[in-house]
Amino acid sequence: MDRFFVSPDALQGDAAELDRELSHRLRHVLRLRRGDRIILVDGRGGEYEAELEDVSSPTVRVTILSRRAGLPEPQARVVLYQSIIKGDRFDWVLEKGTEIGVAKFVPLVSHRGVVRPRTGRVERRERWRRIVTEAAEQCGRSHLPELVPAMSLSDALESAEGLRLLPWEGERQTTLRQALRQAVGKGKKTPVISIFVGPEGGFARQEVDRAVDLGVLTVSLGPRILRSETAGVVAAAAALYELGELGA
Ligand code: SAH
Repeated sequence: MDRFFVSPDALQGDAAELDRELSHRLRHVLRLRRGDRIILVDGRGGEYEAELEDVSSPTVRVTILSRRAGLPEPQARVVLYQSIIKGDRFDWVLEKGTEIGVAKFVPLVSHRGVVRPRTGRVERRERWRRIVTEAAEQCGRSHLPELVPAMSLSDALESAEGLRLLPWEGERQTTLRQALRQAVGKGKKTPVISIFVGPEGGFARQEVDRAVDLGVLTVSLGPRILRSETAGVVAAAAALYELGELGA
C-alpha cells in the first residue's frame, strides 16, 4: 500500500480531508479510486490505514480504518551538514540520506560551495522538502527527517550538537571509526552525531582551522577522495552502521 505523509492535525477523527497537493497525486498521478486503501503517516510515528471515499472534489475524503505505530527512528541521531552543491547532486544526498536514516539535514553555505543557485530560494527549499518527504514515504519511515534553512558554516559550527565531526581529506590520523568509538560511550543511548561535509572544492583551510578551534574533530573517510555527495552519504551510513543502526 502506498504511504503518504500528512499533517497530524488532519488526522483527528474517523475521517479526514486531504490537502490539494496530496489529493492531486492520488487522483491524477496514481489514479486511485473510491474504495482504494492507502497509509497516511503523521510524521510523528503514527500510521493510519485509510480508505478513499470521495475522489471527485479537489480535496479527497478518506475514512480512517485503523491506527498503528510505524517504524521507530534510529536511536542515534545523525545530523548531516552538507555543503550545497550543484542541483541534482544535493537532491541525491537528501534522498539517500533519508533512506539511510539521517535525522536532520542542514544545507551548508561554505566558501567554495555553490553560491548562486539557479532557482529561487523558496522554490529550491520546496523541492528539497518534497524529495525528503517522498524518500521517507518510499523507504517506510514514519517520522519526517528535519530539513532546516541553509546556514553558513560558522553559524552551523556554533550551533551543532553532540559529537561534531568534519570529514577532511587532509586528516591522516583519526578515522571516522576511531572518533566514534572514542566519543560514544557504551551507556549512551541516543548519541547525536553532527557531520560536516565540504563542497566539490573541499573546505577552505581557514574553515577547517576554525572548526578545529571550536573543538570539532577532523576525521578521515579513507585514502581515496570522495565527491562531496558521496562523502555525505558514506559518512552518514558509516556512522549509523558503526552505531548499530544499519544491520550491523
Ligand atoms: N577538492 C578536494 C576534495 C573535496 S571532496 C581535494 O581535491 O582535495 C569533498 C568533501 O568530501 C570534503 O570537503 C570532505 O568533507 C569530504 N571528503 C572526501 N573524501 C574524503 C576523505 N577521504 N576523507 C575525509 N573526508 C573526505
